[in-house]
Amino acid sequence: MTYLFNPPAIVSLPIRGSAARFPVGRVFCLGRNYPWPQAYGPAPQEPVFFMKPASNVVHAQGELPYPPHSDEFCHEIELVAAIATGGANIAAEQALTHVFGFAVGLDLTCRDHQRKAKAEGLPWESAKVFEASAPMTAIVPASDCPWPLQGSLWLQVNGQERQRAELSQQTWALAEVISRLSRQLPLRPGDLIMTGSPPGVAPLKPGDAIHAGIDGIGELHVHIGPRPAAQAANAA
Ligand code: MN
Repeated sequence: MTYLFNPPAIVSLPIRGSAARFPVGRVFCLGRNYPWPQAYGPAPQEPVFFMKPASNVVHAQGELPYPPHSDEFCHEIELVAAIATGGANIAAEQALTHVFGFAVGLDLTCRDHQRKAKAEGLPWESAKVFEASAPMTAIVPASDCPWPLQGSLWLQVNGQERQRAELSQQTWALAEVISRLSRQLPLRPGDLIMTGSPPGVAPLKPGDAIHAGIDGIGELHVHIGPRPAAQAANAA
């Protein structure tokens, strides 16, 4: 069997303490999963999932590109769960046995596009899908994480804290999230689940330095690159 062209390279993340890497399959993201101020509207009654392509996942280090199409590029610190054992219709009581480990991730979001999509009832891809939209730390095996997971997730920009919450404040616990998602479609090894961000998301500017972490899992340091120059208009 031959392909028309060489298949894209598998995206992967390092695993702390291992020479092996974690091959990334699909990236499921959970909408609001922490208490947010009432001004943001009523919380959804059921978990809301959206996706990012695996090609948007990068190891969080160095410079992240400012997306070319947004004027309101925002950070969202999130706990990421890495699935190594697939399955359908997973019972919540068994769900955590499907998790290989955890990472600290950023669900980078173009809030201007998300606001427009919400207002007009349109899909979210223009807000959520762009190069390097899902930077993550190395994956830490669950056996090396404090269990049960507890403690804070937090994010600073240029040394100022913008987001901080307790993992225990999540509306839907990870086991419930895995169980519900696996009733929609079978989970596969390589799936990542980004489990939602607490309040405090705010815009990023070129040159901003982000320092973020989750107790017991890890920390990341990245900075934001320059805004791409406006595309030169085609000659009239
Ligand atoms: Mn998010």
